Amino acid sequence: MPADDVGADTASDTQRFYADLVMHHSSDAVIISDPQRKALWVNPAFTSQTGYAIDDITGRDPGTVLQGRDTDAETGAQIDVACRQRHEIRVDILNYTKSGAAFWVDLKVTPVYDATGRHTHFISTMRDITERKMLEDQNEEMRHAEALRQSERQLLALTSEWLYSSKSFDELLMVIKRAMHTLIPEADGALYIYDAPRTVLELAISWGTLPAFATHILPDDCWALRRGRAYAYGLKPIEFVCDHVDKPGMPYFCLPVVAHGETIGLMHIVFDGFEEGGLMRHMRNEVLRNRWDISLICAEQISLAVANVRLRQELHDKSVRDPLTGLWNRRWFMEHALRELTMAQRDARDLALISVDVDHFKQFNDRFGHETGDMVLKEVGHVLTRDAGDNVAPCRLGGEEFILLCVDHDEGAAYEQAERVRVAISKIALTVSGQPLPAITVSAGLGVLGRDGTALEDIMKAADLALYRAKAEGRNRVIERLSPEVTIGAS
Ligand code: GH3
Ligand code: MG
Ligand code: MG
Repeated sequence: MPADDVGADTASDTQRFYADLVMHHSSDAVIISDPQRKALWVNPAFTSQTGYAIDDITGRDPGTVLQGRDTDAETGAQIDVACRQRHEIRVDILNYTKSGAAFWVDLKVTPVYDATGRHTHFISTMRDITERKMLEDQNEEMRHAEALRQSERQLLALTSEWLYSSKSFDELLMVIKRAMHTLIPEADGALYIYDAPRTVLELAISWGTLPAFATHILPDDCWALRRGRAYAYGLKPIEFVCDHVDKPGMPYFCLPVVAHGETIGLMHIVFDGFEEGGLMRHMRNEVLRNRWDISLICAEQISLAVANVRLRQELHDKSVRDPLTGLWNRRWFMEHALRELTMAQRDARDLALISVDVDHFKQFNDRFGHETGDMVLKEVGHVLTRDAGDNVAPCRLGGEEFILLCVDHDEGAAYEQAERVRVAISKIALTVSGQPLPAITVSAGLGVLGRDGTALEDIMKAADLALYRAKAEGRNRVIERLSPEVTIGAS
């Protein structure tokens, strides 16, 4: 039917009919209120959205009915102001259903005027946006988690850089302590390293506020060491506490430290902050799982760093140790003697050198073979190491010549030290194929800082001259100083 054929009444009836249809079938809730904001009418979508029937709400201010505990008060106040000033307002607001369930709406409140300009009604439309809000929150959470992961990654990268630049084991331990405390601030921890015979693990370093970690762990007392893989306590319903843990109840991790395929230690991390309740307790499992991931990476990084430092140490040792006797070599001696000499002069402290040479050493090689000669050198090296007192560093300069760098030793103390090793070496009893070797003896001579000069070569020379004198006077003796008539430099 063409529009111009429709009479005025019919046209407005049709329009009202359409408006009715829209009101009844709209998925948005609609409230019509009077100028005092008392509800007069609501559509069916309002009832299905809120659970309130038309009779529940008529005559009441929808705001006071729908807003609740977690509704933002500021948003509520904005609506009040807009209504008082008769402005249209559109906000996102948290509402509550009749049964108390929270939901988010996109609310628009519009003042309506009649032909004379009199304010007659408010029309409020409410669209449920709970799903959108949840997605927004989720996205926000994900962004937050991603930012966190990003900063964790950066921290881990920084840590591994530090771990790798550690030159010594002690330095590495300090880096581990700092790094673990920063990466997992809610945990305390300790690093244990196997002792040489591999019977126990000794506490190398600990961090955090827990009073004390066990100083030793037996390998059988730890599930991680027994099973050969990292162990987490506190994440699963059925678990067993390791015997080395003396405060059961706190979640903890045990992570083996592995270098070159061999377990060399254990990192033990304890979470003592979850017991007081509150937020931490609520987030406990989430935090633990995240820390577990970080701990695994840390244990791996630490393992690599320990292997790295060990390798460095071995290489360094090789370059300054004599492989036959294990004593410091000439290179080490020259470096350290110079350094100690400088410090001794600066601090006005004593320093002495003892030159030691095996008597008639050639006979051991000539009569019993080179290997026996080596055995004698090894044994002499062993006695020198064993009987070197505090501040005494025994070195092998080459062949059967040794030198003892004695810091804080004056002439008397150095003489006592020299006598002690001379006597001890003379007591060495070796056999070859069941046959006893001839007695091993040494001659020794002293060089003393000040008395013999201040330059290293002068003190070494004095020690050598005294040694020659010992040889000349019959060997197996210590000459502490040349007699006054013999001057240094004379032969
Ligand atoms: P003296 O009492 O005068 O010191 O006599 P000596 O036989 O000990 O002295 P000499 O310097 O004549 O002999 C040292 C020997 O040490 C010569 C050399 O073959 C031997 N020698 C040097 N280095 C080694 C080594 O690493 N192993 C072995 N087995 N022998 C070595
Ligand atoms: Mg000799
Ligand atoms: Mg010699």
